[in-house]
Amino acid sequence: MDLQNYKEIAVKHVLDIRSFINDYFKELEPCHLITLTFASTMVTVWAYNFVFQRESLKSRCKKQFFRLVRSLPYIGSKIQKELDKALDEMAHRLISPKEGMSFVRTLPCNGLKQEQVMEKLKEYSALGDVAWKQGKASGTVYSGDEKLTQLLVKVYGEFAWSNPLHPDVFPGVRKMEAEVVRMACNLFNGGPDTCGAVTSGGTESILMACKAYRDLAYERGIKYPEIVAPVSAHAAFDKAAHYFGMKMVHIPLEKKTMRVDVKAMRRAISKNTAMLVCSAPQFPHGVIDPIEEIAKLALKYKIPLHVDACLGGFLIVFMEKAGFPLPPFDFRVKGVTSISADTHKYGYAPKGSSVILYSHKDYRHYQFFVASDWPGGLYASPSVAGSRPGGIVAACWATMMHMGEDGYIEATKSIISTARFIVKELQKIKEIFIFGNPEVSVIALGSEVFDIYRLSNSLTAKGWNLNTLQFPSSIHICLTLLHTKPGVAQLFVQDVRDSVSVIMEDPTAKTTGAGAIYGMAQTIPDRSLVTEISKAFLDCLYLTELPSSTNQINGSPRHH
Ligand SMILES: *Cc1c(COP(=O)(O)O)cnc(C)c1O
Repeated sequence: MDLQNYKEIAVKHVLDIRSFINDYFKELEPCHLITLTFASTMVTVWAYNFVFQRESLKSRCKKQFFRLVRSLPYIGSKIQKELDKALDEMAHRLISPKEGMSFVRTLPCNGLKQEQVMEKLKEYSALGDVAWKQGKASGTVYSGDEKLTQLLVKVYGEFAWSNPLHPDVFPGVRKMEAEVVRMACNLFNGGPDTCGAVTSGGTESILMACKAYRDLAYERGIKYPEIVAPVSAHAAFDKAAHYFGMKMVHIPLEKKTMRVDVKAMRRAISKNTAMLVCSAPQFPHGVIDPIEEIAKLALKYKIPLHVDACLGGFLIVFMEKAGFPLPPFDFRVKGVTSISADTHKYGYAPKGSSVILYSHKDYRHYQFFVASDWPGGLYASPSVAGSRPGGIVAACWATMMHMGEDGYIEATKSIISTARFIVKELQKIKEIFIFGNPEVSVIALGSEVFDIYRLSNSLTAKGWNLNTLQFPSSIHICLTLLHTKPGVAQLFVQDVRDSVSVIMEDPTAKTTGAGAIYGMAQTIPDRSLVTEISKAFLDCLYLTELPSSTNQINGSPRHH
């Protein structure tokens, strides 16, 4: 048979089909046909839109199912009762009512004298009983040095009224901000093309990178840009996805190392991928992702790669000189297009500052916002905020200048040696294990023989304030300069050892208190319940009344 034959057979089949359809529908009027065609097109479009949404079909079905469960008469009200009880307890714990405590709810009619304000202030600083100055808190305060505090207060005073939004009025603040960015670029081995911006914190730095890559993706014709990030990446990436209409694609970790699974990441890359993410180190277990391998993917598929060094950025850049070398993680790695690093963590600057750095100005342009036609003037703004505190920029600059390279190396040496000491000692305790290889300052603990949240409870009772993690159950301590003071690390190790031996007297005993709540929160299949409780927690932050009245806070929208 030759080609001609094929063609004839094909034509004949098409004609067969055609006459079949014509026969089949010959009873119908043209009007019917048009209506039918129109309706079936609409149904197809609807079905397509129903199945393919930013939130997966499975996730939406699950939500719908739990909504149904909660609307059932008996079960629903039982869930609501339990919820109300939990919320009441939470409000009590948070507001920690003290004898005779009152709340300010209206402006004082006549302004207080300065001495009176200072007097009142004492009540507020006396609230709270975590001894963070004694190194009992994980992370939170990274320096706490008295001398540095005195310097910062003076520097802030000098620039208290300044605002980087007005570089013409405050050229000094503009200069300091530019210098902070350039010093940071150099620390991360960036060449002359690297650039960046100062932001209000790690979250804003991450938001800005995601916004920049989203707009770049839009320009490349991607309609629904996706962030491909390890599950261990900071929640700020989920926040960015939420704020900027992007889709979050979470990549699992390798069980043993807690580093992102590179193969899974490669499989997750699609035509919609706007950016890849690595952490150096990640928050939960303090582990550094395989940045060089992910950078190869980034280059191969021509996708930007963000390295989140918010937490440990100002440690890892000094680790080699402090005697703890690491594989390359910064602009030396081809493919890394941006890095976030928090000056208000191991940069030891006061809270409210961070840097976002890019390998090239082209990327930074996508971060900027310009309102070219605003009657209020030609408005150009680099980051989320409009007006910004120049005093914070000045304090950040002053901290970096005061610390200097030698100061940072010294601090890094103390913190990393303390971390290595604690790791070595905790490894001797057989009933617990350390997640992955904590190369920097965070040490995460788990156990295969008892519920690790019991250790958390026990350490809380001894005055420690650790971070509670989930999926899998674990706790971590993030070491700061406050933990390098004499005796603190030894006390921590001793308290862990003592706690574990008490727990091991009855390893299967039931977990109580805060630990139990954390354990339970993980097992609730209806994640919308967890979200609801968390939102009520946020409501509690704004309470200015004793919790006897908190029953009112439970009014959730679904009642209406
Ligand atoms: C702290 C942190 C951030 C962002 O934190 P902010 O609280 O917004 O400063 C981002 N990534 C990691 C890994 C962090 O530890």
